[in-house]
Amino acid sequence: MRCPFCGSENLIWDFATGAIICASCGSVIDVIYEAEPPYHRLSYKKASVAEAVLYREKTRLSKQRLSLISMRTAMYTKIARRIRKNRVVNERALLAMLSGSQRRVRLIEHRIDELLRQRLNGDLAYLKRYLDIIDNDPVLSSRTFRGKVALAMMIHQLATRGSVDLKCIAKELEMSLTHLKRLEKLVLRRLRRLRV
Ligand SMILES: [Zn+2]
Repeated sequence: MRCPFCGSENLIWDFATGAIICASCGSVIDVIYEAEPPYHRLSYKKASVAEAVLYREKTRLSKQRLSLISMRTAMYTKIARRIRKNRVVNERALLAMLSGSQRRVRLIEHRIDELLRQRLNGDLAYLKRYLDIIDNDPVLSSRTFRGKVALAMMIHQLATRGSVDLKCIAKELEMSLTHLKRLEKLVLRRLRRLRV
C-alpha cells in the first residue's frame, strides 16, 4: 500500500484512532475497517447471537475507553517519533481528524508553516490572490502548503518582473533549489495551459 499523495510506503496503522496515516507527508489515507468478528472465520463453530452481541459490545466499550485526549496524545507521540527533521505535527489538523470533521488532512507540516500562515495576513497578503488560483487548480492544489506559497511567489514574480528568482524563494521558504526547480517547471506548464 502506498500513499496516494506522495507515494511513500511509510504508513502508520493507528488502531487507537482507526486511521492509516502517511508518515512522510502526514496525510490521512484511509480508515481501518473493523476486522470481522472471529466467529466468522471459525466455520466449525457457529457463534450464538448472544456471543455475537457480546463481542460487538466489548469492542465498542474498549474503543470508548480511549478518550479524545489520550488518542490525541498517543497519535501525536506516534507521529512525532517518525517525522523528518524540521517537521512538526499540526495539532489543529490532528484534532479536526480525530473529531471526524475532516477526513483528509495533512498532519505533518514544516516548522515554518505556522509562521507563513500568519504572514499571509501581513507582509505576504499579496500572495493570497495567487493562492486562490492555486487552490482551484486540479494539479497545483495538491502540493504542500509551503509548496503552494512557493508557487504563489513564482506567479507573482512572473507577473511583476517576468522571471523567477529561485534563490530568493529558497531562502525565504527554506526549500531546496532542486525542489523549487521542479515546482517552477510545473507552474510554467500550468500557466501555459491556463493562458494566464
Ligand atoms: Zn504521503
